Amino acid sequence: MYKCKHFSIHELVPRKVFEQRGCKAWELLDERLLITLDNLRERYGSITVNNYYWGKDREWSGLRTSDSPYYSPFSQHTFGRAADCLFANKSAEAVRQEILASPYNSDFKLIGSIELGVSWLHFDVRNCARIKKYYP
Ligand SMILES: [Zn+2]
Repeated sequence: MYKCKHFSIHELVPRKVFEQRGCKAWELLDERLLITLDNLRERYGSITVNNYYWGKDREWSGLRTSDSPYYSPFSQHTFGRAADCLFANKSAEAVRQEILASPYNSDFKLIGSIELGVSWLHFDVRNCARIKKYYP
């Protein structure tokens, strides 16, 4: 089982899942997502996914359950295959452009799809012709 080196499980699942499953919640997330999150963290520095654990407002940027106001049955977030990332040291757009410019780079090779035109980096590890690009 892969567990992130640079993220705690509460950063990747919502509060209820963290409370009910604890460390077993790692099993709900695709290891390709987790490996890529660590790659991005090592390449770009500090990343925020969820931060509710520290009293802040982000709870639905990793795994999403039907409790979420953003829930959609076929979202990659629903399957534990997507993350929305904010970077402390770089804009999401700059990171997005780097990924799209070198999709075969070893840090990016597991990324399936990228969302365009948003102020965060959404990436997911869906099964598709990569790198698929879409607008929300
Ligand atoms: Zn997303």
